[in-house]
Amino acid sequence: MLLHKTPRLAQWLYPNLVWKQKVNAKIIYLTFDDGPIPEVTPWVLGQLKDYNAKATFFCVGDNIRKHPDVFSKVIQEGHSIGNHTFHHLNGWKTDNTTYLKDFLSCEEEIQKNGIKSNLFRPPYGRITPKQIKQLSSRQIIMWDVLSGDFSIKTKPEEVLAASIKYTRNGSIVVFHDSQKAMSNLQYALPRYLAHFNQLGYEFHAL
Ligand SMILES: [Zn+2]
Repeated sequence: MLLHKTPRLAQWLYPNLVWKQKVNAKIIYLTFDDGPIPEVTPWVLGQLKDYNAKATFFCVGDNIRKHPDVFSKVIQEGHSIGNHTFHHLNGWKTDNTTYLKDFLSCEEEIQKNGIKSNLFRPPYGRITPKQIKQLSSRQIIMWDVLSGDFSIKTKPEEVLAASIKYTRNGSIVVFHDSQKAMSNLQYALPRYLAHFNQLGYEFHAL
């Protein structure tokens, strides 16, 4: 069973991580993990442009290396960039030295493209207290709404319905610009944007 809504307990246990933004306005923070890739990211950019929406892209360093032109396009269109490690490492299964090194490799790849970013999202949301401490000078961005677009067991209609149901003012919502998520994303993202646009929401980058 996929948890579309982050439990309050997790947020309470890790108050130093960012789970949502405290805003009293109709603002949503969309995030896209695992890109940039030519098959999906440009399509996402097009959807966002239609609604004058800005978002945050948590990029895998190796994908930036492979697709610098797609990465440049994300920046040119005014979105924020975050670090998502170089090799998409699972913090629970990786020793701290390797984890930090991989984080720094991704940071270097981002900086090569003239960008400075203080935002980090641990792949799978899995990070140990020690690793959090190592990265304490950075802002670690989690989420309060998980679309579930990456899950092949989750139907596109469910991805959309759950994402809409749990979104609040200031929500940080996770989508993926990845091949795996593409079929769910193609259905859910345009409808999600249209839904909240109609309700008067704006989409901001972190
Ligand atoms: Zn990821």
